[in-house]
Amino acid sequence: MVNPGGVPSRPDMSYDRSVMRGRLDGKVTLVTGASRGIGRATALAFARQGAAVVVNYSKAHEQAQRLVDDIQKAGAQAVAIRADVASRTEVRAMVEGTLARWGRIDVLVNNAGILHRGNILTLAEENLDEMIAVNLKGMIHCAQAVAPHMMKRRYGKIVNIASIAALGTTMADTTPYAAVKASIVALTKRFALELGPHGINVNAICPGFIRTDMTSVGTPQELDARVLSMAGRAMLGRVGAPEDVAAAALFLASDEASFITAQVLTVDGGRMDFLSHSG
Ligand code: NAP
Repeated sequence: MVNPGGVPSRPDMSYDRSVMRGRLDGKVTLVTGASRGIGRATALAFARQGAAVVVNYSKAHEQAQRLVDDIQKAGAQAVAIRADVASRTEVRAMVEGTLARWGRIDVLVNNAGILHRGNILTLAEENLDEMIAVNLKGMIHCAQAVAPHMMKRRYGKIVNIASIAALGTTMADTTPYAAVKASIVALTKRFALELGPHGINVNAICPGFIRTDMTSVGTPQELDARVLSMAGRAMLGRVGAPEDVAAAALFLASDEASFITAQVLTVDGGRMDFLSHSG
């Protein structure tokens, strides 16, 4: 800043605090799989920016309730709702419960997901079925239940959490998971196509290796080795934290991203192991 005398002045810090607003002030948001990991960080980020949050979970009741208590203590609104996203009936009940409480849903983050390891020869059929039911059908159930209400108001943001596995990584024992996650990318673009004319933005995030319960398998030594190896594959030289993905979800859920739809945002620290076709 330059003052009339031409002398650089300090930035004007006397802004009017009444015009400072959270990026999701007054929005009603539903985050699936919010009891732990990426979903939990996303719910917290949303609440900090003024949103009311539905913390969905399927089993981890205590963790979901603790998160709700923390959000409420911080002065924001939240409620925990149990629903297995693989069940269309339970998802519909969750959405109806949210509408009964807050009257609308502005943002849906389809985050709930599971990972069953296995390759094309070793994966058990029930594990494949469960991944399809939770990771793929779960997103369809939630979008089908929420979209009609968003369409009525001609407003809505849907953020689907896919994975860099969808983009062609080479991590062992994740082939069926990768295939299911790849379908989320296609689904995101089709949802965006169908819902765009109704004022609804639909985007996907592809996280890289993020330290959560999902990736914390094996002995501490095995985990350390995996983290080191994954960090070594990223241009930024580190693995991700749930907050890294939450920040991207916050952007896509906010009106700052109102002209962005059908996009896939990769949040992986710049992974190099599937970057080049010629290297
Ligand atoms: P996480 O720590 O294992 O947490 C998974 C969350 O999903 C939990 O809150 C869990 O709640 C919930 N969930 C699981 N099954 C559910 C169901 N049937 N209905 C409702 N909620 C269910 O996993 P995360 O690492 O945060 O992963 C979150 C999302 O990011 C997943 O879609 C995952 O595929 C994706 N992702 C993760 C990574 C990574 O490196 N961590 C990388 C790429 C993509 P309950 O415990 O109550 O069941």
